[in-house]
Amino acid sequence: MKKALITGITGQDGSYLAEFLLSKGYEVYGMRRRTSTPNFQNVELIKDQIQWISGDLTDLPSMIEAVREADPDEVYNLAAQSYVAASWPQPSLTTQVTALGVNNILEAVRIVKPNARFYQASSSEMFGKVLETPQRETTPFYPRSPYGVSKVYGHWITVNYRESFNMYACSGILFNHESPRRGHEFVTRKVTDAVARIKLGLQSELRMGNLDAKRDWGFAGDYVKAMWLMLQQDTPDDYVISTGEMHTVRELVDIAFSQVDLDYQDYVVLDPKFVRPAEVDLLLGDCTKAKQQLGWETEVSFEQLVKMMVEEDLRRVQAEIAYNNIYHGHTEKQLTKPVPL
Ligand code: NDP
Ligand code: GDP
Repeated sequence: MKKALITGITGQDGSYLAEFLLSKGYEVYGMRRRTSTPNFQNVELIKDQIQWISGDLTDLPSMIEAVREADPDEVYNLAAQSYVAASWPQPSLTTQVTALGVNNILEAVRIVKPNARFYQASSSEMFGKVLETPQRETTPFYPRSPYGVSKVYGHWITVNYRESFNMYACSGILFNHESPRRGHEFVTRKVTDAVARIKLGLQSELRMGNLDAKRDWGFAGDYVKAMWLMLQQDTPDDYVISTGEMHTVRELVDIAFSQVDLDYQDYVVLDPKFVRPAEVDLLLGDCTKAKQQLGWETEVSFEQLVKMMVEEDLRRVQAEIAYNNIYHGHTEKQLTKPVPL
């Protein structure tokens, strides 16, 4: 039985990857950091099948111990401060986790289990102010945020460990990928959650930033398969993973509101608070290499993705309303809203 160690297992991608690896018969070790309140929403259904290890990417001794305990065949480094907008107010934390943390886990693997295969979660944010469209593996990087800069470090240190120590280390340059498990602050989830709340009478408006930004959005469940495929090849390499389709934030908002027969223009309010100090105007990936060498394909379209997320948020908000009515006697209007970020 193969063993895999996943950092960031409580996040969106980590939970999908864990499910995928369990379905393939892997023994899955999940590294998670200590939290004061339980943080298992994404892995609730599989948490008893995971071997849990406590650790933090910024703490080298705990990473060494995690690799020692799991003794993994494959290591997937998905942990990060992953939200671009938070990386300006918290640049030092972002650097510690998203950049230097990669060095910690690579170093732990090099010391304890140098023949384990290693996956690094690189990002299309590294292309930033894009120097070529579509972006491919050879497109130069021009990051636009402390997050993007940190991911460039993580990417190159992974390449460097591969070249210096002959480690099987890969970087997946993944374009935006979403799901009903996406964090609430990211634009897709913020929109689909708001659509559900507006439809159910809990919210009256949606405050947004730049509606003209363009992204190449795919489904997270499809993208974790590419991570696994990268570690099953004869030689390690780096791959762009994307849909090759680009949409504006405005289109996203339009499609999401249309799902519940509402017109977004009646609800969306532009708020400078959500405009970023430096924007990534467009991202569009060319994943020809992944298609040809890994045989990877995306299966969920943009429209299907938005529909899936709206439906799931409608179900969840309805369930929350029912729960609060029964257990707390709240009226629907008294339900708490997420704090805007
Ligand atoms: P999430 O934000 O959903 O998950 C991040 C995970 O990292 C969480 O499990 C979080 O734990 C964990 N984490 C954060 N800080 C630390 C730390 N110091 N030590 C240990 N664990 C930590 O991200 P996604 O699942 O969306 O993304 C996975 C990876 O892929 C990230 O590296 C992200 O930057 C990258 N990526 C994502 C893209 C996307 O579109 N989703 C695109 C390209 C790259 P906790 O639950 O405790 O907060
Ligand atoms: P990112 O591509 O990793 O930064 O993913 P996000 O989902 O956070 O943002 C995608 C795009 O949506 C960016 O260009 C943002 O500027 C834009 N955007 C516009 N309004 C908002 C908003 O209210 N919240 C977020 N998160 N992004 C917004």
